[in-house]
Amino acid sequence: MKAVAVFPGKAGSIHLTELDRPQVTDVPNGRGVLVRIVRVGVDGTDKEINAAEYGKAPPGYDFLVTGHECMGQVEEVGENVTELALGDYVVPTVRRPGKSFYDAIGQYDMTTDDLYFERGINLRHGYLTEYFVDDPEYIVKLPKGLRHVGVLLEPTSVIEKGIVQAYELQRRLKVWRPKRAAVLGAGTIGLLAAMSLRMRGLEVTSFGRSRAPFRNAELLSEIGARYVSTQEQSLAEASKTLGPFDIIFEATGFAPIVFEAMEHLGKNGVLILSSVTGGGRHVDIPADRINLGFVLGNKVVVGTVNANREYFEAGIYDLSRAEMEFPGWLPKLLTHPVEGLERYEEMMRLLTTARDAIKVFVNVSPE
Ligand code: BGC
Ligand code: ZN
Repeated sequence: MKAVAVFPGKAGSIHLTELDRPQVTDVPNGRGVLVRIVRVGVDGTDKEINAAEYGKAPPGYDFLVTGHECMGQVEEVGENVTELALGDYVVPTVRRPGKSFYDAIGQYDMTTDDLYFERGINLRHGYLTEYFVDDPEYIVKLPKGLRHVGVLLEPTSVIEKGIVQAYELQRRLKVWRPKRAAVLGAGTIGLLAAMSLRMRGLEVTSFGRSRAPFRNAELLSEIGARYVSTQEQSLAEASKTLGPFDIIFEATGFAPIVFEAMEHLGKNGVLILSSVTGGGRHVDIPADRINLGFVLGNKVVVGTVNANREYFEAGIYDLSRAEMEFPGWLPKLLTHPVEGLERYEEMMRLLTTARDAIKVFVNVSPE
């Protein structure tokens, strides 16, 4: 079968390759699920992998099949699989367990191992191919009515983890009734975070660089979120008039803003960080002021990246709810389709150059 792969460490090495089609018996004890891949989304991580900034090939291979945002349809199940059936629409998770205690209890997203395994990213092949086989533990069933937006579930799982954990942390307050949230960044993750926070009843202000009007600002207004361009108003200024922010969700990819967010987070507030920043940037920060604000204001910061299946389930809830509450909104995030794995060059070109892209995705096979 065809697969899109890179040679990790070799920039711009994306190419089409051949891989043996996996068998349902590849998973022991009759627990295999064979999935035909329908659609795969790509994001900044795929861009970084092709730029040789990230990613490792699985043992025994010099290439890595990329793609970690996948939606597919079950084609065959082993004799001991009861959770899934032929024709089910599904989304696989990304991380696979390592050796730590957290891995052993299904919290592989919380691993304390230095080495981690992620399909399409690190040491395990991904989904930009025709089929995959896995254990049902790592395959989440998608309601049929969500199949047109199922490819958004993996990125949604990441924001869910951040928000669910923020609420979990805030149980320390006994009573916590957040009213205002700021979302930093208006890309895919920022838009999904704004959506989820709106549905939790928060007043949401999203910040981005570009001046409105543009598509993402319009999308935000469609779900009742406010958009502020930081070229017109800084977070500091906005927090005086539109805050205090009980939640700040950071999704810009620009680490220096984290310290600004710490400074302007409201009392008893929670700051959620979701940017994977591989660079080596240094900044000057008002350390005393930030520290004082945290100590006197009882603030907390939490990081979120990979998600286990619990957060994929939470994502299904939010995507379903979004389709009910804002019908037709989610499909608008699927801006840039690419037809077929053979067009991987077009996929990478859109991913790196289409500035207005929200989600670039590949239609691998028909639904
Ligand atoms: C993926 C996560 C992954 C992270 C770091 C992100 O793009 O969505 O699942 O943990 O990259 O590898
Ligand atoms: Zn990703």
